[in-house]
Amino acid sequence: MNPIVVTGSILRLRCQACGALFPHFQFSGERETEAGGLFSASSGKLDEVFIAEATEPEWKDFDRAGATLAEQRLAQQLGREDLRVIRLLRIESALTGGQGMSFADFKKSYRPPVMVYSCAGCGEGESKLVEEISVEEFQLAGGNVRLADGLVM
Ligand SMILES: [Zn+2]
Repeated sequence: MNPIVVTGSILRLRCQACGALFPHFQFSGERETEAGGLFSASSGKLDEVFIAEATEPEWKDFDRAGATLAEQRLAQQLGREDLRVIRLLRIESALTGGQGMSFADFKKSYRPPVMVYSCAGCGEGESKLVEEISVEEFQLAGGNVRLADGLVM
């Protein structure tokens, strides 16, 4: 079987509730595979992300129960309780303008939408982007990307 090539970048996220700063792998390429799809999990303790292939039942409902199943499988297979699948909770639109605003004012006040993610450290916290870096930059800074069998970068 040919290895599956993984492409993407690292988002450094900070939780607003517990203050945890942790990495999240963001896929840029194809995520669907024959069995299911690719997903990433982040450690809330180490500067580490883990990338693996979801099984078919996990992938079917990955936004909800499937991600929890995948976390449980990683914990069992790797003996790691600290790996969490980071979910995109919502997108905050920072548009402050209202009706009657000129286009120039609109452009001045425009802020790009802010992605709000779950936290790798605590259960309920919400995290936001601190910076986006390449996988190489992440590794040079001491970060660790672990790939499941059959995956390459
Ligand atoms: Zn947190």
